[in-house]
Amino acid sequence: MSSNEDGIHSGDGEIGLFDVEKHVRYLEMMYEMLPSEYEGQEINHLTLAYFIISGLDVLGALDRVDKGRISNWVLSFQEHPENRITVNDVNFYGFYGSRTSQFLYDDTKVLRCNGSHLASTYSALSILKLIGFNMSDLDSNTIVISMKNLQQPDGSFMPINIGAEKDLRFVYCAAAICSLLNNWKGMDKEKAKEFICKCQSYDGGFGLVPGSESHGGATFCAIAALQLMGFIEANPLSNTTESSAVNVKLLLEWALQRQASDGGFQGRSNKDSDTCYAFWVCGVLKILGGQDFFDKTSLRKFLLSCQSQYGGFKKFPEMLFPDIYHSYYGFSAFSLLGEPGLKSMCVELGITAPIYL
Ligand SMILES: [Zn+2]
Repeated sequence: MSSNEDGIHSGDGEIGLFDVEKHVRYLEMMYEMLPSEYEGQEINHLTLAYFIISGLDVLGALDRVDKGRISNWVLSFQEHPENRITVNDVNFYGFYGSRTSQFLYDDTKVLRCNGSHLASTYSALSILKLIGFNMSDLDSNTIVISMKNLQQPDGSFMPINIGAEKDLRFVYCAAAICSLLNNWKGMDKEKAKEFICKCQSYDGGFGLVPGSESHGGATFCAIAALQLMGFIEANPLSNTTESSAVNVKLLLEWALQRQASDGGFQGRSNKDSDTCYAFWVCGVLKILGGQDFFDKTSLRKFLLSCQSQYGGFKKFPEMLFPDIYHSYYGFSAFSLLGEPGLKSMCVELGITAPIYL
């Protein structure tokens, strides 16, 4: 067993370096055909595609895919109004998550159900943006104005127009959609900010809804949405006064405490470190300007222990196989750590930085 400055070892052998070529091959396989394990996630087909295509982009391998074919495929999921939308139209005209959600409930077309979803719309627009699609070719007004129907009186968003849970995930999706389309007519930003601030818990982190337990994913959604809406000041750590929209000092403390003794980040206290939180929590730290306050070397070691021998990343080191979701956030976390050869991220949008778009 040999050792060098970058490589690391575990009890049962060398774990190695970040293996770009293996990761690209893994994503190419997923791009060609998803394994049967993903059948249950068919409804999220666009989001799975976002992880794969955006992952190839982070790895600098977007030239491996046919961008024209991808844009046609993504656009085929867009819901269009039959006529010009009116004030009485309560539908959301975004993107469906998959082909099966485009089926009509009834052959008579009477019970047609609009299944456009905020998360699928975010995924669709992210893919289109990163493959260089001309976003001005989209009717952004129809998307964002119909999206207004999903914002609730408390400022939160539902993801779909037939009634569903409403929480920070969908406030984030709404803000990212407005940002990607450069059109903010679709949300009341002040109301959204009000809701987000109510989700900050006593310990500094954010829960998905007011009063719920602080969580790494919810905290990312809160801070990234505030950043996209322009509510995070240039150097938030220098201003920890009461005037800040959120308690930044407490949030910083909570986020730093999520780095566990194995070097990885956990989503909640007393939980195991998990690959994806390296992006969710370190992304928050990056937006706050606190990216130099945690132990990067030990995080890198933890992430490498989750790197799969087949390419991609596993959720936990002891798991046998990688999955698309944790692979994407593993690549994104390595980008945040400054891995050579990887594109840098626009953290708040969850895709590569605009310089590459
Ligand atoms: Zn995870």
